[in-house]
Amino acid sequence: MNLITKAKIFGEVKCHMYTIEWQKRGLPHAHILIWIKDSLHVHRVDDFISAEIPNPQEDPDLFSIVMKQMVHGPCGSVKPHSPCMKDGICTKRYPRHFLKETQTGQDGYPLYRRRSSQDGGFSVNINFRGSEVSVDNTWIAPYCPLLKIFNAHINVEYCNSLKSIKYVCKYVNKGSDMAVFQLTSGENDLNEIHQYQMGRYISSNEAVWRILNFPIHERHPTVIHLSVYLENGQ
Ligand SMILES: [Zn+2]
Repeated sequence: MNLITKAKIFGEVKCHMYTIEWQKRGLPHAHILIWIKDSLHVHRVDDFISAEIPNPQEDPDLFSIVMKQMVHGPCGSVKPHSPCMKDGICTKRYPRHFLKETQTGQDGYPLYRRRSSQDGGFSVNINFRGSEVSVDNTWIAPYCPLLKIFNAHINVEYCNSLKSIKYVCKYVNKGSDMAVFQLTSGENDLNEIHQYQMGRYISSNEAVWRILNFPIHERHPTVIHLSVYLENGQ
């Protein structure tokens, strides 16, 4: 957040919000929304966001990070039982189409440049379960310069319609999973804890995160709903 709000790697930030999530047993990950002050024209999106394999000669470090962190799948015919597959189709819509230039999409998300090898894009053969699989620009999740700093999976998207912002806000505020569980001690044993309880499903590392008081949510500027009363109507 310091790199985004103080070092301004995307430019001046007007406001931001984030939540930390665990997805069942997973490691923590953050959903971050930022509003940048100067609106970003579509031809400048390429300066911040890429969905392509970088040149392995020009930037071998970035190349290996992208190949390790940002390649979707494999799914489809190579791995039909991948968690992203539903009814034989990848729910994350991979592989995407090749595209010569970044374009504005209809739903507020742009379609990022994904050049084919004819247009100068790169493709790499990787080894998946003993067989060679070719990975090209249709399999890369959009990333930004933060990737090289953190060497982690950091997916970044540009969105500019009200619809997409509403969707992302809902996603950011989803909250934790719920579970219903029962505690028993032996059969036919009647005791006070023999009852259903409602509880939250929290993994051990999320529990530690909360015990140590690490942040789980922040928004700036803070918006607080104030109750307004008529005079003497409290
Ligand atoms: Zn997939």
